Amino acid sequence: MNLLLVYPEFPETFWSYKKALKFVSKKSGSPPLGLLTVAAMLPAEWNIKVVDMNVSPLRNSSIRKADFVFISGMSVQQESARKVIELCARLGTKTVAGGPLFTTGWENFPRVDHFVLNEAELTLPEFLRDIQKGTARRIYSTEQWPDITDTPLPRWDLIKMKKYASMSVQHSRGCPFDCEFCDITLLYGRKTRVKTSSQITAELDNIYSHGWRENVFFVDDNFIGSKTILKRETLPAIIRWMEEHRYPFTFNTQASINIADDKELLRLMGKAGFTRVFVGIETPNEESLKECSKVQNINRDMIASIKIINQHGMEVQGGFIVGFDSDPASIFEDQIRFIQESTVVTAMVGLLTALKGTKLYLRLKRENRLVSEETGNNTDLSINFKPAMNLDILLNGYKKIVSTIYSPKYYYKRVMDFLKIYSPPVKRFFRFRPIHILTLIKSLVLLGIIGKERFQYWKLMLWTIFRRPRYFPLASTLAIYGFHYRKVFEKLPRV
Ligand code: SF4
Repeated sequence: MNLLLVYPEFPETFWSYKKALKFVSKKSGSPPLGLLTVAAMLPAEWNIKVVDMNVSPLRNSSIRKADFVFISGMSVQQESARKVIELCARLGTKTVAGGPLFTTGWENFPRVDHFVLNEAELTLPEFLRDIQKGTARRIYSTEQWPDITDTPLPRWDLIKMKKYASMSVQHSRGCPFDCEFCDITLLYGRKTRVKTSSQITAELDNIYSHGWRENVFFVDDNFIGSKTILKRETLPAIIRWMEEHRYPFTFNTQASINIADDKELLRLMGKAGFTRVFVGIETPNEESLKECSKVQNINRDMIASIKIINQHGMEVQGGFIVGFDSDPASIFEDQIRFIQESTVVTAMVGLLTALKGTKLYLRLKRENRLVSEETGNNTDLSINFKPAMNLDILLNGYKKIVSTIYSPKYYYKRVMDFLKIYSPPVKRFFRFRPIHILTLIKSLVLLGIIGKERFQYWKLMLWTIFRRPRYFPLASTLAIYGFHYRKVFEKLPRV
């Protein structure tokens, strides 16, 4: 059997980092972890090829040679996924689709031959048995959540690691919270399921043995869903592993803001090498937090929580949303003020989106307010429901937030404020590579000479050299990210 596993292309979005990746000569931020894990579940004697369209082109000849083309992706990849499905249908190769995009919206893809939905640990084995017997159905799905302690190691041998800025590990699935707009509990349930610590260290070993020495992203939607296991088993095992291997990686992940309430957890994460955590902050408006059931953020001094996380060596990347029914007219100014005070350098501000099947989607459907399918990109002004606020006011207010916070003056101020309080507990070794010289030259030219941020860029660089020399690489990285964010938001269409 010849299988082709295809990961569709991401459009240029806030998270694509396309503009930033050019500075470091990388093609994509993260590898297709789901497909590489599925590849490890396929019979060893099958011939498997992976094409991640974010790093290499998909050729007709590869599709023609394949018995099946497997496609996986998220909703933001839907446009590219549709083109791949059409192309396969035209070339006469059968398609098998799975992953979040298809699990929540398989009905939108009539040309797909087979769907292997939900988590592959449960649905893939039956599909594989059936295709070998020639009796495969169109849809394989389940309402169960699999134990992930038997999930195999991803097939890292199927990709070229050096094309990526980061590698990925999944430690858990599921989230104990139930935010109204989020589809994570729909996809993975509210009970957190975790891998064993020996699975995690085996995954680190595997990535390390393939030569990787840079960042590793723990892709969990809420890394701290099971704090007891993390503190008792997983983090101590990661710390031991990192010490034995002389800290070859840095880590980043995603977590709910109650991470700030557990100092022991923060201490262990800092010691393990976690340097960044994405936190859903959403809004400083309490009524909007109540509306979306973001219980962990209510009645909390969120700025104080963010600073506690910073003080344990982790930068906080924040998710923010506007478009809640309870948002007051002042929400745009409130968000700008909050973001500036919070020292959240990377503030992912999006418009509220009704993801298919979520509680928000069902409520808006009942209220007859859904207007279109979502695009998976909550920063492109394509709001898919009728908001309570006047639409033009909402879209213009949104543009005002992102153009302000990513203007060089505001952005570089946040970088400097953050570097003043940042203090990682582990002294990291800066591993010099020739590519760093090229990256520095590109930044000097694009940011320090041509860019409209040149004044703020030099101010930050000189301040860092004299006041925080250890953080010069971090300051340069954040300057490059700022360039990407600014460029993404400068492209927003007129309202
Ligand atoms: S805490 Fe995060 S992952 Fe969990 S339900 Fe809320 S938004 Fe989703």
